[in-house]
Amino acid sequence: MSASPIKLAIIGVGKIVRDQHVPHVEKNPRYQLVAGVSPNSKLDGPPTFKDLDALFASGVAFDAASVCTPPQVRHALALPLIKAGKHVFLEKPPGATVSEVEDLKAAADTAGRTLFTSWHSREAPGVKAAADWINGRKLKSVEIIWREDVRHWHPGQDWIWQAGGLGVFDPGVNALSIATAILPPFFVRKAELEFPANRDAPIAARIDFALDGGGRMSADFDWRQTGPQTWDIRVEAEDGHSLRLSLGGSALEIDGHAATLQPEREYGALYDRFADLVDAGRSDVDVRPLQQTADAFLLGRRIETEAFYDPAA
Ligand code: NAP
Repeated sequence: MSASPIKLAIIGVGKIVRDQHVPHVEKNPRYQLVAGVSPNSKLDGPPTFKDLDALFASGVAFDAASVCTPPQVRHALALPLIKAGKHVFLEKPPGATVSEVEDLKAAADTAGRTLFTSWHSREAPGVKAAADWINGRKLKSVEIIWREDVRHWHPGQDWIWQAGGLGVFDPGVNALSIATAILPPFFVRKAELEFPANRDAPIAARIDFALDGGGRMSADFDWRQTGPQTWDIRVEAEDGHSLRLSLGGSALEIDGHAATLQPEREYGALYDRFADLVDAGRSDVDVRPLQQTADAFLLGRRIETEAFYDPAA
């Protein structure tokens, strides 16, 4: 482990930065939070600059940056950071397109710096045990059900409804990040995407996949669910046993019995991993969840649905 903490800048001071990044960085002795960049918002304490140029011009020394903006502007921010010799942690999804992320990986390799495509849901406490249970089993069916209330979780977030904002795939990509980590390879075969008449991103999606090794696999993403929310992956195996990973990976049932799990610390684990990668001089770049999303958009049949109005906008 390096002797001095990683001096970190956070780019894009929004909800997830306030809820998770700042508290986890501040309590991790391997980091020192030295600056922020955000057009309007500010960090409490460290100086926050309006844009990257102002940060570079300020003379504040930093080793690494977490880019936590909406995906549409990630590449334009991450590339100059890498070229300036900084290690980069990307919030999910790591970019607006797959090729942008590949470009960042090549740039990080050339610069000899760490690039980390973080997928926080993979760090949920039930995911590793689910992967172990699935490993080596012949699967009969996999059902992903990710249904939540966009008005509750994304009030006033206009970027999420713009092209490149991913719409319901913003949470859906979390499901796909878990699925790509625990299942055999799978491929989109058919998709239907529902777009509100006044929006450029989908509010719902139904996807059928081909699963390597056989078995049925589907995903149902919907942003119109009020009442109890559902973030489930349900797996039935040919041997008659079954698994249910729920609450986004925080709860696990095997054959209907709840498993005992460690407490949730997704962002704690992500920041430990990033520091380990920096120390080891390595990158961790996995585009598979974004690739699956892109494939659903490529193959998806577009259906227009009722206009969506955000009461918080
Ligand atoms: P958000 O609250 O809308 O915050 C995004 C922030 O990015 C805004 O505060 C905005 O700054 C800043 N920003 C926009 N353009 C910028 C630019 N060019 N340079 C620097 N900063 C810029 O969104 P969020 O919910 O935090 O989500 C951000 C990312 O984290 C998304 O990719 C999302 O998928 C991911 N994420 C979110 C959650 C969650 O629960 N919300 C969970 C996990 C991951 P100003 O405020 O200064 O205008």
